[in-house]
Amino acid sequence: MVDHATLYLRALKAEFAVTGVMPENKHGTTYGPRVYKCTCTKCVPTRWRMNASSKAAMANRRASEPIPHGTINGYASFECRCPECKNAARLYQAERRAKQKEQVR
Ligand SMILES: [Zn+2]
Ligand SMILES: [Zn+2]
Repeated sequence: MVDHATLYLRALKAEFAVTGVMPENKHGTTYGPRVYKCTCTKCVPTRWRMNASSKAAMANRRASEPIPHGTINGYASFECRCPECKNAARLYQAERRAKQKEQVR
């Protein structure tokens, strides 16, 4: 079972893994330290609010869930660097670039 918040978090992580850019509006949210490992003055206090048990639950889930190899999720969320996952990340990046080009037009 994967809830909506987890999916969103993964999507953000996947995006960040590819772009390396943290959106301005994510500062001061729990996503700052969780997704972007941001240590700015806005983001750091949100880290303290995260309790240890939710962190442990997340680590547990990571350990118990199979890694979705060949997906951007495997690459970004599970930090797998096997050829399949690397390839998925490459495709994701290419797709993003193509979309960005379309938006410019
Ligand atoms: Zn920040
Ligand atoms: Zn993999």
